[in-house]
Amino acid sequence: MHDIRNIFILTGAGISAESGVATFRGPDGRWEGHRVEDVATPEAFRRDPALVQTFYDARRAKLREIEPNAAHRALARLNAQWPGELLIVTQNVDDLHERGGARRVLHMHGELRSAWCLACDGRTRWEEELSSGPACPGCGAAGEMRPDIVWFGEMPYRMDEIDAALMKADLFVSIGTSGAVYPAAGYVQTARYLGARTLEINLEPSQGSLFFEESRIGRAGELVPEWVEEMLAGLR
Ligand code: NAD
Ligand code: ZN
Repeated sequence: MHDIRNIFILTGAGISAESGVATFRGPDGRWEGHRVEDVATPEAFRRDPALVQTFYDARRAKLREIEPNAAHRALARLNAQWPGELLIVTQNVDDLHERGGARRVLHMHGELRSAWCLACDGRTRWEEELSSGPACPGCGAAGEMRPDIVWFGEMPYRMDEIDAALMKADLFVSIGTSGAVYPAAGYVQTARYLGARTLEINLEPSQGSLFFEESRIGRAGELVPEWVEEMLAGLR
């Protein structure tokens, strides 16, 4: 593994599953009982803002009850000890990577603990509910803050930084993501085309499984710590 310096790690809902967070598409194709179109699109928010705010209020409140698991902690260990560059790009809107100790995390789909004011365009760290229409701490407007979440049809955040990191990556690792949501689902092909090694760790082969050189199938809580130990052992 002496030829690997820069590592790009993409994570999805599966890495948080063992912490008790529901993944996106359950067996019934729903997310916590809702159709994705009803809670995670700008159209849904225009049509029924109260439903969408209440849905995300519940997800945000749940953060108080959940803890990072062995996979989050292992990635933080690698983050702290890896001599090259390491970037974690997550599709998750929870804060479990940070609470697990990771240093460089980029939330491409936004964060539950952030509110975005549509009146002043400001963003505020937010722990409470938004459905009650609180005033924006920045401009004072009431009822103008929405979850700072990238919904379907909206542009993911930090794309320039992500592209730059993909270009430099020697190893691309995808963990707990179904490979169904673009642009993240396409990163493996970009990374591989640019010469990176590729590994996926997932409970089942993802939709892009054939693009990976190596697939490890199983629970992130077991397989990620194993992989991290291998990487760190290779340094010694
Ligand atoms: P997804 O639900 O589409 O796929 C999750 C994948 O993880 C599946 O392939 C599943 O087989 C796998 N998985 C389930 N349990 C696992 C485990 N214990 N170990 C390893 N793999 C496991 O999730 P996605 O690909 O991240 O979908 C993208 C969208 O879902 C994003 O837009 C994201 O914002 C949103 N989302 C985020 C959260 C969160 O923040 N925790 C939760 C639900 C949905
Ligand atoms: Zn404001």
